[in-house]
Amino acid sequence: MKRALILLIVLIYLGSVSMAQQFPKINCTTLVGDAMLERNLEVDTVGVRGTADNYHMWHNGDVLLVKFLPGGSKTLRDKVIQNAREWEKYANISFKFVADTTKYTDLRVKLGKGYGHNSAVGTEANFRPQTDPTINFDTLYFADADYYAAALQKKGIMPPYNYDQLIKEMTIDPDHWVNKEIRRVVMHEFGHSLGLLHEQSYPGAIKWKKTDSVYNYYEKTQGWSRDKVDFNVFEVAEKFYTNGTTYDSKSIMQYAIEPWQTVDGFSLKDNYELSDGDKALIGALYPKNQKESSLEVPKVDVKNFNRLDVFNNSTRGGLVIVPSFDIRTNSKLGQVYFVARLADEEGYYVKTSNLYYNWGGTAATYQKMNLLPDSKVSYNKGKKNFELFFPYDQIPELNGKRVMIVFAVYLDDVVNGQKDKLMYFSTTNPLSIPK
Ligand SMILES: [Zn+2]
Repeated sequence: MKRALILLIVLIYLGSVSMAQQFPKINCTTLVGDAMLERNLEVDTVGVRGTADNYHMWHNGDVLLVKFLPGGSKTLRDKVIQNAREWEKYANISFKFVADTTKYTDLRVKLGKGYGHNSAVGTEANFRPQTDPTINFDTLYFADADYYAAALQKKGIMPPYNYDQLIKEMTIDPDHWVNKEIRRVVMHEFGHSLGLLHEQSYPGAIKWKKTDSVYNYYEKTQGWSRDKVDFNVFEVAEKFYTNGTTYDSKSIMQYAIEPWQTVDGFSLKDNYELSDGDKALIGALYPKNQKESSLEVPKVDVKNFNRLDVFNNSTRGGLVIVPSFDIRTNSKLGQVYFVARLADEEGYYVKTSNLYYNWGGTAATYQKMNLLPDSKVSYNKGKKNFELFFPYDQIPELNGKRVMIVFAVYLDDVVNGQKDKLMYFSTTNPLSIPK
């Protein structure tokens, strides 16, 4: 039986790998909301991603607050800031880099070692706790390998070197970086943070060889499972998400491709600058001369999500679920659902055959909400004005197992025929439900 795993935010771990002077390059992964991934695996294998995820764009003109989590020298942070700002030239959006002590930020950058490069896509950053990064950069891959290899050799240490030796040397003698690589990776990840997706998912662009050798290659070089390769490499977007663009092999959002990975021998080298296509697309998504993009789709922003309270109410005979958050709509009207699902302690959704308390085959209670365009609503801030109720007699037999309540906001875009767009996601700790 195929079951849906909730938590799949896999970070790449690089152990003490033996290496020559050249450190291998690493591809980026996008941080995905788990429920979104579940739908990818089980329901919708093609519809979610594309060259830009219109449903997770920020509002045009937004000033995004960005901070660094602990780590990274001033020199390196300055390089990140400078290269991220490249997008501001073409998009009506700006990054405001604020002090590390700032409590609330839209984006959080972690300069760390051994966790790969990755980023949440656009407003999916809102799903991440304020203590967690929304963008990770792996500084091992920014290090000037030639410089550090020479330094090690000067000390009489001969290759091959391992990452521990590099890390030690970087601690003693910091800030020797490959600027070109930093620029490429920073622009790519900040591209994701603005809602852009991998260009290789453009429909029909790349004729991948989906053979074991390709899967093995990504397992070996990136540590990725087959599901992860399917999601990050092979996934093809619906035409809708190309936003009328043509495939752009020069995009900063395109991976390098080796000829043996494709059916027709097609290959690409890394791109180091924003392409004309990147500039045009980001300018169309965040136009400087219009209030709103003509590519705008219905969407909602969920912010200040500070509580997800769940009460056992024996008098009413059910679970009372009270999330507390603010929600903002844009000018387009979509259908919004507030959904609370049950998941077991391992993170698998609880299946059900119940006709009513059911969201895609999983035990859930939900409400369709009527929201006005261009409006803001606060739920359960100060006074209680919203709850979801799950009657005990509609909950499947749990055999005494504890469950988590997974709260999500979904949106259906009827006009464009796009359904179940995940707008927000939060989960409780495991709790017991009385019989
Ligand atoms: Zn990427």
